[in-house]
Amino acid sequence: MKPSLYEFTLKELLTEVKPSFRAKQIYGWLYHNYVTSYDEMKNLPKTLRDELSERFVIDPLKIVKKEIASDGTIKYLFELQDGKTIETVWLKMKEEITDEEGNVTQEAKYTICVSTQVGCKVGCAFCLTAKGGFTRDLSAAEIVAQVVALKRDNNHKHNRMINIVYMGMGEPLDNLANLAKAIEVFQEEEGLAISGKRQTVSTSGLSTKIDRLGEMDLGVHIAISLHAVDDALRTELIPMNKAHNIASIIDAVKRFPIDTRKRVMFEYLVIKNKNDDLGSAKKLVKLLSGIKAKVNLIYFNPYPDTPYERPEKKDMVAFQEYLINHGLLCTIRDSKGIDISAACGQLKEKTASEDR
Ligand code: SAH
Ligand code: SF4
Repeated sequence: MKPSLYEFTLKELLTEVKPSFRAKQIYGWLYHNYVTSYDEMKNLPKTLRDELSERFVIDPLKIVKKEIASDGTIKYLFELQDGKTIETVWLKMKEEITDEEGNVTQEAKYTICVSTQVGCKVGCAFCLTAKGGFTRDLSAAEIVAQVVALKRDNNHKHNRMINIVYMGMGEPLDNLANLAKAIEVFQEEEGLAISGKRQTVSTSGLSTKIDRLGEMDLGVHIAISLHAVDDALRTELIPMNKAHNIASIIDAVKRFPIDTRKRVMFEYLVIKNKNDDLGSAKKLVKLLSGIKAKVNLIYFNPYPDTPYERPEKKDMVAFQEYLINHGLLCTIRDSKGIDISAACGQLKEKTASEDR
């Protein structure tokens, strides 16, 4: 399998391609023009284009399925070079605003939710991705290519801002080296120039790896998938909580370098009669005291054969009110793309069962 050109930071590409201004030109074709063939790299000599195509592919992904929801969410299923599949989601966060004359005064804002692995080793009891087990890590190029492909498919210019959340399939910190490389490629000034501030790594809580990510000082945000306030329930939901318990995660978060204007996001998946009571809300307030935190409550999104149920709206709202009344910022994740099987892993599963 040939490596992809998306694998390289500019510095690395400069060592692969001479003279150096050619590497910058290639970066422009890849990240400003989103080209998918060497023929489109018009200012490169034919000999160089031939040499490159001998050694590297450009896009390692192929769109095999696309589902568009009524709220503008688009879910993509990609096939990788080895035939494995992953999914990526295009989320509309803010609508475009126009004045009376129809001029756009504020462009719509989008977030891309990317995958970092095919499957996942963590095995969370509530997660569809976990059911298929773990297949392999994604390369940095396969992570980068998801963002380029979605910007290309949505005619989103390279200099328009985009946020990235590492919340698709897989546990990002279980693929830390490739994740870190992808974060760096995204940050390249000659490329997409997406700063760390616009990138959020969501983790199920590998506390030692949270420390490692912090030491890398990439300027990214973290989101912790907490989901439970006591270790017994958290271990039921996320088995590796035995090795990385709640206290160890909270300690790691306290050590993590955070932009002083920002908050650490704690995701709390709400499951009916499991963790939706005000006693849990009270414990959560206590647990997060002393941390600049923001809590995101997520409705559990049911799928066939899961023992867990979606919580009642009134319980969600009561939980949120309790947190807010006790000084925590708290949002409820709205059901973006609910009509296109929104939660992680669900598009992939649907395609697999349709194929059977
Ligand atoms: N592995 C990382 C990132 C990917 S999972 C992590 O766990 O944080 C992204 C998010 O999807 C997690 O917060 C997870 O809790 C959520 N998720 C998984 N299954 C879900 C379901 N059935 N309903 C709603 N959210 C779910
Ligand atoms: Fe992996 Fe995240 Fe799913 Fe848990 S919730 S199995 S960590 S993808």
